[in-house]
Amino acid sequence: MVAEKLEQLTKLQTIDSKIDSIKKVRGALPEEVGDLEDEIVGYETRLQKFEEENTANEQEITDKKATIKTSEGLIKKYEEQKMNVRNNREYDAITKEMELQTLEIQVAEKRIKEAYQRIEDKKLEVDTTKTKTKERGADLKAKKDELNSLLTESEADETKLEKERKRASKTIEERLLLAYNKLRANARNGLAVVNVKRGACGGCFNVVPPQRQADIKEQKKIIVCEHCGRILAGVELEPIVEKPKAKRTPRKKAAPKATAK
Ligand SMILES: [Zn+2]
Repeated sequence: MVAEKLEQLTKLQTIDSKIDSIKKVRGALPEEVGDLEDEIVGYETRLQKFEEENTANEQEITDKKATIKTSEGLIKKYEEQKMNVRNNREYDAITKEMELQTLEIQVAEKRIKEAYQRIEDKKLEVDTTKTKTKERGADLKAKKDELNSLLTESEADETKLEKERKRASKTIEERLLLAYNKLRANARNGLAVVNVKRGACGGCFNVVPPQRQADIKEQKKIIVCEHCGRILAGVELEPIVEKPKAKRTPRKKAAPKATAK
Protein backbone atom coordinates (compact mmCIF):
# COMPACT_ATOMS: atom_id res chain seq x y z
CA MET A 1 0.00 0.00 0.00
CA VAL A 2 2.74 2.44 1.00
CA ALA A 3 4.90 1.14 -1.82
CA GLU A 4 2.13 1.96 -4.25
CA LYS A 5 1.71 5.45 -2.84
CA LEU A 6 5.42 6.09 -3.10
CA GLU A 7 5.41 4.85 -6.66
CA GLN A 8 2.56 7.21 -7.56
CA LEU A 9 4.33 10.13 -5.90
CA THR A 10 7.57 9.34 -7.70
CA LYS A 11 5.71 9.21 -11.01
CA LEU A 12 4.15 12.61 -10.37
CA GLN A 13 7.54 14.02 -9.39
CA THR A 14 9.06 12.73 -12.63
CA ILE A 15 6.35 14.43 -14.69
CA ASP A 16 6.68 17.67 -12.74
CA SER A 17 10.45 17.67 -13.10
CA LYS A 18 10.04 17.30 -16.88
CA ILE A 19 7.66 20.29 -16.91
CA ASP A 20 10.15 22.22 -14.79
CA SER A 21 13.00 21.52 -17.21
CA ILE A 22 10.91 22.72 -20.17
CA LYS A 23 10.18 25.95 -18.29
CA LYS A 24 13.85 26.24 -17.41
CA VAL A 25 14.73 26.37 -21.13
CA ARG A 26 12.70 29.57 -21.32
CA GLY A 27 14.85 30.70 -18.42
CA ALA A 28 14.77 34.39 -17.71
CA LEU A 29 13.15 35.20 -21.07
CA PRO A 30 9.65 35.94 -19.75
CA GLU A 31 11.14 38.20 -17.08
CA GLU A 32 13.46 39.90 -19.59
CA VAL A 33 10.51 40.60 -21.88
CA GLY A 34 8.66 42.18 -18.95
CA ASP A 35 11.70 44.29 -17.98
CA LEU A 36 12.12 45.57 -21.54
CA GLU A 37 8.46 46.47 -21.75
CA ASP A 38 8.77 48.47 -18.52
CA GLU A 39 11.94 50.19 -19.76
CA ILE A 40 10.27 51.25 -23.00
CA VAL A 41 7.25 52.61 -21.13
CA GLY A 42 9.74 54.66 -19.05
CA TYR A 43 11.33 56.15 -22.18
CA GLU A 44 7.96 56.96 -23.68
CA THR A 45 6.93 58.78 -20.51
CA ARG A 46 10.19 60.72 -20.62
CA LEU A 47 9.64 61.68 -24.27
CA GLN A 48 6.17 62.89 -23.44
CA LYS A 49 7.61 65.03 -20.64
CA PHE A 50 10.19 66.49 -23.04
CA GLU A 51 7.38 67.32 -25.43
CA GLU A 52 5.54 69.19 -22.66
CA GLU A 53 8.69 71.08 -21.66
CA ASN A 54 9.29 71.99 -25.28
CA THR A 55 5.80 73.42 -25.58
CA ALA A 56 6.33 75.46 -22.41
CA ASN A 57 9.64 76.81 -23.71
CA GLU A 58 8.13 77.77 -27.03
CA GLN A 59 5.26 79.49 -25.24
CA GLU A 60 7.77 81.51 -23.19
CA ILE A 61 9.56 82.59 -26.39
CA THR A 62 6.26 83.74 -27.91
CA ASP A 63 5.33 85.61 -24.71
CA LYS A 64 8.68 87.36 -24.40
CA LYS A 65 8.65 88.36 -28.06
CA ALA A 66 5.27 89.98 -27.41
CA THR A 67 6.76 91.77 -24.37
CA ILE A 68 9.59 93.13 -26.51
CA LYS A 69 7.12 94.38 -29.11
CA THR A 70 5.09 96.18 -26.41
CA SER A 71 8.19 97.76 -24.91
CA GLU A 72 9.44 98.87 -28.32
CA GLY A 73 6.05 100.47 -28.97
CA LEU A 74 6.23 102.31 -25.66
CA ILE A 75 9.76 103.54 -26.33
CA LYS A 76 8.63 104.90 -29.68
CA LYS A 77 5.76 106.68 -27.97
CA TYR A 78 8.10 108.13 -25.30
CA GLU A 79 10.48 109.37 -28.00
CA GLU A 80 7.63 111.35 -29.51
CA GLN A 81 6.62 112.67 -26.09
CA LYS A 82 10.21 113.71 -25.42
CA MET A 83 9.92 116.22 -28.27
CA ASN A 84 7.07 117.99 -26.53
CA VAL A 85 8.23 118.16 -22.89
CA ARG A 86 7.55 121.36 -21.03
CA ASN A 87 10.17 121.02 -18.27
CA ASN A 88 13.11 119.02 -17.01
CA ARG A 89 10.99 116.98 -14.62
CA GLU A 90 8.84 115.68 -17.45
CA TYR A 91 11.93 115.00 -19.50
CA ASP A 92 13.55 113.00 -16.67
CA ALA A 93 10.36 111.04 -16.04
CA ILE A 94 10.12 110.02 -19.70
CA THR A 95 13.81 109.14 -19.84
CA LYS A 96 13.35 106.93 -16.79
CA GLU A 97 10.38 105.19 -18.40
CA MET A 98 12.41 104.61 -21.55
CA GLU A 99 15.24 103.14 -19.52
CA LEU A 100 12.79 100.84 -17.77
CA GLN A 101 11.40 99.60 -21.09
CA THR A 102 14.92 99.07 -22.45
CA LEU A 103 15.69 97.00 -19.39
CA GLU A 104 12.45 95.08 -19.92
CA ILE A 105 13.55 94.27 -23.48
CA GLN A 106 16.97 93.11 -22.28
CA VAL A 107 15.42 90.79 -19.70
CA ALA A 108 13.00 89.40 -22.28
CA GLU A 109 15.86 88.83 -24.74
CA LYS A 110 17.77 86.99 -22.04
CA ARG A 111 14.76 84.78 -21.29
CA ILE A 112 14.29 83.99 -24.98
CA LYS A 113 17.94 83.03 -25.29
CA GLU A 114 17.64 80.77 -22.26
CA ALA A 115 14.50 79.12 -23.59
CA TYR A 116 16.20 78.44 -26.93
CA GLN A 117 19.16 77.00 -25.05
CA ARG A 118 16.89 74.69 -23.05
CA ILE A 119 15.26 73.48 -26.26
CA GLU A 120 18.72 72.90 -27.74
CA ASP A 121 19.96 71.11 -24.61
CA LYS A 122 16.96 68.78 -24.56
CA LYS A 123 17.38 67.95 -28.23
CA LEU A 124 20.32 65.67 -27.52
CA GLU A 125 18.49 64.00 -24.66
CA VAL A 126 15.38 63.57 -26.79
CA ASP A 127 17.43 62.06 -29.61
CA THR A 128 19.24 59.70 -27.22
CA THR A 129 15.96 58.63 -25.67
CA LYS A 130 14.40 58.09 -29.08
CA THR A 131 17.37 55.96 -30.15
CA LYS A 132 17.20 53.94 -26.94
CA THR A 133 13.47 53.39 -27.38
CA LYS A 134 14.10 52.13 -30.88
CA GLU A 135 16.95 49.84 -29.80
CA ARG A 136 15.06 48.40 -26.86
CA GLY A 137 12.05 47.96 -29.08
CA ALA A 138 14.15 45.82 -31.41
CA ASP A 139 15.50 43.85 -28.42
CA LEU A 140 11.99 43.34 -27.16
CA LYS A 141 10.80 42.07 -30.50
CA ALA A 142 13.70 39.62 -30.76
CA LYS A 143 13.13 38.30 -27.24
CA LYS A 144 9.39 38.05 -27.75
CA ASP A 145 9.92 36.12 -30.97
CA GLU A 146 12.36 33.80 -29.23
CA LEU A 147 9.97 33.24 -26.35
CA ASN A 148 7.07 32.62 -28.70
CA SER A 149 9.02 30.10 -30.74
CA LEU A 150 10.07 28.31 -27.54
CA LEU A 151 6.48 28.28 -26.37
CA THR A 152 5.27 26.91 -29.70
CA GLU A 153 8.04 24.34 -29.72
CA SER A 154 7.25 22.96 -26.28
CA GLU A 155 3.51 23.46 -26.43
CA ALA A 156 2.74 19.90 -27.52
CA ASP A 157 5.08 18.38 -24.92
CA GLU A 158 3.68 20.56 -22.20
CA THR A 159 0.08 19.77 -23.05
CA LYS A 160 0.92 16.06 -22.99
CA LEU A 161 2.74 16.34 -19.67
CA GLU A 162 -0.06 18.39 -18.12
CA LYS A 163 -2.51 15.66 -19.08
CA GLU A 164 -0.22 13.01 -17.60
CA ARG A 165 0.12 15.13 -14.51
CA LYS A 166 -3.64 15.33 -14.08
CA ARG A 167 -3.94 11.58 -14.46
CA ALA A 168 -1.11 10.89 -12.05
CA SER A 169 -2.51 13.36 -9.49
CA LYS A 170 -5.87 11.59 -9.46
CA THR A 171 -4.34 8.39 -8.15
CA ILE A 172 -2.85 10.13 -5.12
CA GLU A 173 -4.89 10.75 -1.99
CA GLU A 174 -5.68 14.39 -1.38
CA ARG A 175 -3.77 14.74 1.88
CA LEU A 176 -0.58 13.45 0.27
CA LEU A 177 -1.07 15.57 -2.83
CA LEU A 178 -1.45 18.69 -0.71
CA ALA A 179 1.75 17.90 1.16
CA TYR A 180 3.50 17.20 -2.13
CA ASN A 181 2.39 20.50 -3.67
CA LYS A 182 3.41 22.42 -0.58
CA LEU A 183 6.85 20.80 -0.56
CA ARG A 184 7.35 21.56 -4.23
CA ALA A 185 6.30 25.17 -3.80
CA ASN A 186 8.85 25.63 -1.05
CA ALA A 187 11.69 23.76 -2.75
CA ARG A 188 13.88 25.79 -5.05
CA ASN A 189 14.68 22.75 -7.18
CA GLY A 190 11.03 21.72 -7.36
CA LEU A 191 11.73 18.38 -5.75
CA ALA A 192 9.23 17.04 -3.21
CA VAL A 193 9.94 13.33 -3.65
CA VAL A 194 13.55 12.19 -3.66
CA ASN A 195 15.65 9.11 -3.12
CA VAL A 196 18.46 8.65 -0.67
CA LYS A 197 21.65 8.88 -2.71
CA ARG A 198 25.04 7.95 -1.27
CA GLY A 199 23.51 7.96 2.17
CA ALA A 200 22.16 11.51 1.82
CA CYS A 201 18.80 13.08 1.07
CA GLY A 202 18.54 13.70 -2.68
CA GLY A 203 16.89 17.05 -2.01
CA CYS A 204 18.96 18.74 0.69
CA PHE A 205 22.02 16.43 0.73
CA ASN A 206 21.92 15.99 4.49
CA VAL A 207 22.88 12.57 5.80
CA VAL A 208 20.08 10.07 6.34
CA PRO A 209 20.96 7.74 9.24
CA PRO A 210 21.29 4.00 8.40
CA GLN A 211 18.28 3.04 10.53
CA ARG A 212 16.13 5.57 8.68
CA GLN A 213 17.41 4.22 5.39
CA ALA A 214 16.40 0.73 6.48
CA ASP A 215 12.91 2.02 7.35
CA ILE A 216 12.62 3.62 3.94
CA LYS A 217 13.55 0.35 2.27
CA GLU A 218 10.89 -1.47 4.25
CA GLN A 219 8.20 0.84 2.81
CA LYS A 220 5.90 0.33 5.80
CA LYS A 221 5.20 4.02 6.11
CA ILE A 222 6.01 7.22 4.31
CA ILE A 223 9.23 8.65 5.67
CA VAL A 224 10.34 12.23 5.20
CA CYS A 225 13.78 13.81 5.46
CA GLU A 226 14.26 15.14 8.97
CA HIS A 227 16.10 18.17 7.60
CA CYS A 228 14.00 19.35 4.66
CA GLY A 229 10.78 17.38 5.02
CA ARG A 230 10.96 15.93 1.50
CA ILE A 231 9.39 12.53 0.98
CA LEU A 232 12.09 9.88 0.78
CA ALA A 233 10.74 7.36 -1.71
CA GLY A 234 13.64 4.93 -1.83
CA VAL A 235 17.30 4.27 -1.29
CA GLU A 236 19.46 4.26 -4.39
CA LEU A 237 22.32 1.82 -4.54
CA GLU A 238 25.83 3.17 -4.60
CA PRO A 239 26.84 4.02 -8.17
CA ILE A 240 28.14 0.91 -9.97
CA VAL A 241 31.37 2.64 -10.98
CA GLU A 242 32.52 2.80 -7.39
CA LYS A 243 31.92 -0.85 -6.57
CA PRO A 244 34.81 -2.40 -8.49
CA LYS A 245 37.14 0.19 -6.97
CA ALA A 246 36.13 -0.87 -3.47
CA LYS A 247 36.51 -4.57 -4.32
CA ARG A 248 39.83 -4.22 -6.08
CA THR A 249 41.72 -3.20 -2.97
CA PRO A 250 40.97 -6.28 -0.83
CA ARG A 251 41.46 -8.53 -3.87
CA LYS A 252 45.06 -7.40 -4.17
CA LYS A 253 45.68 -8.38 -0.58
CA ALA A 254 44.12 -11.75 -1.24
CA ALA A 255 46.23 -12.30 -4.32
CA PRO A 256 48.93 -14.54 -2.69
CA LYS A 257 46.19 -16.89 -1.46
CA ALA A 258 44.87 -17.24 -4.99
CA THR A 259 48.26 -18.28 -6.32
CA ALA A 260 48.63 -20.77 -3.49
CA LYS A 261 45.48 -22.63 -4.70
ZN1 LIG B 1 16.43 16.53 2.92
